[in-house]
Amino acid sequence: MDKPDLRNYSIEELKDLMSSLGEPSYRGEQIFHWITCKNAITFEEMTDLPKSLRSELSWKFSLNLPEVVEKEKDVDGTVKFALRLKDSNLIETVIIPERDHYTLCVSTQVGCPIGCKFCVTGKIGFKRNLEVSEIISQVVLARRYLKEKGEILPLRNIVFMGMGEPLLNLQNLIKALKILAHPKGFNYSRKRLTVSTVGLVKEMEILSKEFPVALALSLHAPTDEIRKRLIPVAKKYSVEELISVCKTFPRIKNGRTTIEYVIIKNVNDSMECAKKLAELLKGYPFKVNLIPFNPHPELPFERPSQEDVERFQKYLLSKKILTTVRKSKGLGIEAACGQLGAKFLKSLAPNSMYKKSALGTG
Ligand code: SAH
Ligand code: SF4
Repeated sequence: MDKPDLRNYSIEELKDLMSSLGEPSYRGEQIFHWITCKNAITFEEMTDLPKSLRSELSWKFSLNLPEVVEKEKDVDGTVKFALRLKDSNLIETVIIPERDHYTLCVSTQVGCPIGCKFCVTGKIGFKRNLEVSEIISQVVLARRYLKEKGEILPLRNIVFMGMGEPLLNLQNLIKALKILAHPKGFNYSRKRLTVSTVGLVKEMEILSKEFPVALALSLHAPTDEIRKRLIPVAKKYSVEELISVCKTFPRIKNGRTTIEYVIIKNVNDSMECAKKLAELLKGYPFKVNLIPFNPHPELPFERPSQEDVERFQKYLLSKKILTTVRKSKGLGIEAACGQLGAKFLKSLAPNSMYKKSALGTG
């Protein structure tokens, strides 16, 4: 039987665990500190614990890190890791360089059950939710990698925009967020932890009550009619309803809720869409992030021209809506938004058109 992984434990649970082993509870805090901000991967490293406790812990518990099966670096500095979990499932995690820091894009599920029409992960289907330890270990792995490389810039932002829909793995997500934000642990500011969701109203409400962090809503369309063509779950929740839930979501340190909008040629890139979007968002400090669609041979859409994207952006800016265009990072290694899992897709469908096309996109 697998030994329990200590990265699944909160600081309180570690303290209780230590008491149950007849140790003082502060040992739990020491262990928490080692496995979070000190990025420990063995019990041996925990030099302020008695030797006997270190060996007891190592027979009873584990501190698994997934195996790196592939590491690809793009010319723009983006690094994508393909990671094998203990049951052999594969996930991906991506380190994205920014001007003065790094951002990590983490996965929360193997595959995704939502099945958005423009997303490679959605095409894989759903395998399972990640455990808390599997979410946290992506962060530990990335921090160790940057440290080993001698990088001085910090890994400052964590975005839950990798494989999967974070709010469908809600309890593990919330526990992982609490561990990431804990002042005695990684101590990430909640403002720098961003959960991106396709828009699940009930779960957004629970997150807002239990542990609000920065929120990004994947809206992608200003009307229900267009949204339903792209996102199956749009049948359940209307655009209006999603916007009103965002307005009630706590704003961390006055941060803005991001509206993500994958902009797709001839689907949602018209001026009429821009006008409707501006109307929908007016009067509240949203930030729109336009993500030009990242094409893939398995996906039936096209990327709009840069001029069309700029026209769309200009219109929103003219209506005083803060709007940025996301630079596609990691396109050359299929690490850009919505492309995670492309390799698994290839292995799942060996005869698909993906195989016939040239490798790599963008
Ligand atoms: N499931 C969550 C988080 C993971 S997807 C969500 O949907 O928000 C992260 C972001 O990548 C989402 O905004 C998603 O819409 C976007 N994305 C998916 N496929 C894409 C593609 N082909 N091109 C550009 N962005 C894409
Ligand atoms: Fe799932 Fe997000 Fe991809 Fe939609 S865009 S299929 S919700 S990962």
